This record gives sequence, C-alpha cells and structure tokens, in this order.
Amino acid sequence: MRVHNFGAGPSTLPLDVLEEAREEFLDYQGSGMSVIEMSHRSPAYQELHAEVLATARRLVEAPEDVEVAIVQGGASLQFAMVPLNLLEPELTAGYAVTGTWAAKAMADASRVGPVYAAWDGTAEGFRRTPADDELVVHAGTRYLHITTNETIGGIRYPEWPRVAVPIVADMSSDFMVRPVDWGRVALVYGGVQKNLGPSGAALVFIHRDLLEATSELPNYLSYRWHVEHRSLGNTPPMFTIYVMGKVLARIEERGGVAALAEETRRKADLIYGAIDRSEGFYRSPVDPAHRSHTNVVFRLSDAELEARFVEEAARAGLVGLRGHRSVGGCRASLYAGLTFESVERLAEFMDEFARR
Ligand SMILES: *Cc1c(COP(=O)(O)O)cnc(C)c1O
Repeated sequence: MRVHNFGAGPSTLPLDVLEEAREEFLDYQGSGMSVIEMSHRSPAYQELHAEVLATARRLVEAPEDVEVAIVQGGASLQFAMVPLNLLEPELTAGYAVTGTWAAKAMADASRVGPVYAAWDGTAEGFRRTPADDELVVHAGTRYLHITTNETIGGIRYPEWPRVAVPIVADMSSDFMVRPVDWGRVALVYGGVQKNLGPSGAALVFIHRDLLEATSELPNYLSYRWHVEHRSLGNTPPMFTIYVMGKVLARIEERGGVAALAEETRRKADLIYGAIDRSEGFYRSPVDPAHRSHTNVVFRLSDAELEARFVEEAARAGLVGLRGHRSVGGCRASLYAGLTFESVERLAEFMDEFARR
C-alpha cells in the first residue's frame, strides 16, 4: 500500500510517473535495454536528454540568454560552484542568512572568497525573510545570494527582493512552484529531489553573461563547460534525468509553473487553516506573511505530544511529518508530486487529532 508521503526530500513522486518508469524499465522504447543500461551517447538517450533540458527551460520561461545545466552533487555542490564561477578578484558577494540552508551556502562560499551577510535572521530565530530595505549590499558586490524557501525553517520570500545587484537563488524546495523573475535573477539552482524527481542532480539556470566571466576551473566545476557540452560532458545521472523528464512533462500538461504555484498555495492554505482554527493546539512559529507554501512547520504543546502526533499520523498512512532533526516539531512538505487528496487527508487528521 502506498502512503501519503510528506517527507522533505527525497519526496513523493506522481504515481503515474513511477508506473510508467516501471513499465519501461526493462525495455526503454523498443531499445531492448533499460535506460540505465544504455550509452549516454545513444540516439535514444540523446533525444530524451535534449527534451528534458528544453522542457525545463520552457517551464521556467527562461529568456534566450539564459542557459540550463544539469550538474551532479545536488544543491550542496552549487554552494561552492556559485562563488567559484562568479566571484572575481576585488569582488565580493552578499548572503541573506534566512536559515540553515542559506547559512550553509554562505559558509561554503566563504571558503572560496570574501563574502558577507547582507542580512542575518539568526538572532530572531529565522521567523521571516528580510524586507528589501533591510538588505545591506556593499559596493563591489557581484551577486546577492538568497534562499527562496527555507526548507527547515518553513519560511519563503513573499516576493523576489528588489536590489541593485543580480540575485543568485537556491530554489531547491520551491523549484517550479514559483515563477522566476528574470529581470532580477542571474542564476537559480536547486537539487531536483524535492519537487522534480529522484536525487542525483541539481538543475541550474544561468545568464550567459556570467559564463563569459567564468575563470579557469576544473571542467566539472565550470558552468561554461556544462553549458557548452549541454550537460553531456561526462556521463550524466541518466536515471534521475529520465524520471525528472516525466515529472516536468506532467507539470507542463497541468498548466506549468503558474498553475503549480496556485495549486501549492491552495495545499498550504489547507494545512495552515487546520493550524489556525485549532485555537493554539498547533502553532506556526513563522511570521504569517512569510509562511512557506511547500514546507509547513508547526509545533504542538510539547515534544511528547508531537511524537504522539507523528506516530498516530503514520498509523493513519500519513508519513514523513517529523520536523528536521535540528529543530524538532512537525513539518508537512507539500511538493509537486503530492496529491491534493493527500493534503486534505492530513488536514482532516489534524482536526480530528486536535479534537481528541
Ligand atoms: C535540500 C536543500 C539543499 C540541499 O540539497 P542537496 O541536493 O541534498 O545538496 C539545499 N538548499 C535547500 C533550500 C534545500 O532544501
């Protein structure tokens, strides 16, 4: 029996994607072999690969001068690749420290070059994202790095910040769930294992201008190399890309990023609704204007009751609700692959548990 999976990543995928992958697993489109057994230079794979890149570009409405790359190493390698490729001598980068992931991105960047905190929400306990006028951007700043959605803290930027420098964004947990404002953004990246497929890759969109500036780096660490080789410079994570292609095709069929953004907001409203009508039984620790649509974080009165909630929910087929081990509490991740019905089931369970 399949459960309702609210895990934060890797996370639930559409059932029909899994079924189709199973169907094709031993013999991909008459090739007589599995997609994980074939050469990445074979026509069958090349066609699939090109289609995935094209679909990804269409979905984020990438302008002509924005390139796409698929890179192994997840979002974590991007924490290093961004400054390695973008920071030049005499330049610095600002990081908006909104939670665990932003702090990790900044820590890695600081090993590459001079960076600074353009805002830091640590003392406030990461309950919100900064307003535009709170972001301090120094002279000589190459980019401002933001984390559009903090997966652990459960906060999101209500709008793309308006600043005088290009934005680089970690969109791991709201990739394809939020339209990208290309007028402000120079580069976005995200691990694909939250909204878009299995683990094994990051998807990166990057302005061509930034490739010109790329300094000499080992091939795999260079954006220019990935773009020039259409992400086929070496053996790509073929299974991840294959499954991601199916997920992206479904997102497109269902109306693309705008439709998914709206659906995700409706999913989030259901769970925040259950929190807000519980009269304090469930509490959201974040500023209401900054509530994440994809990671709903909530607390009960004490850790014992939280453990009981998670356990009884699991018995009812609702799994993955334990908060991140670093913060405790509960968290429901509402990614693209999760059905609306699963979210309704959770909201009903929350009402019923609170009543009891
Ligand atoms: C999950 C996550 C990461 C880490 O992703 P990996 O692909 O595991 O390296 C980074 N940033 C955010 C916002 C995340 O949600």
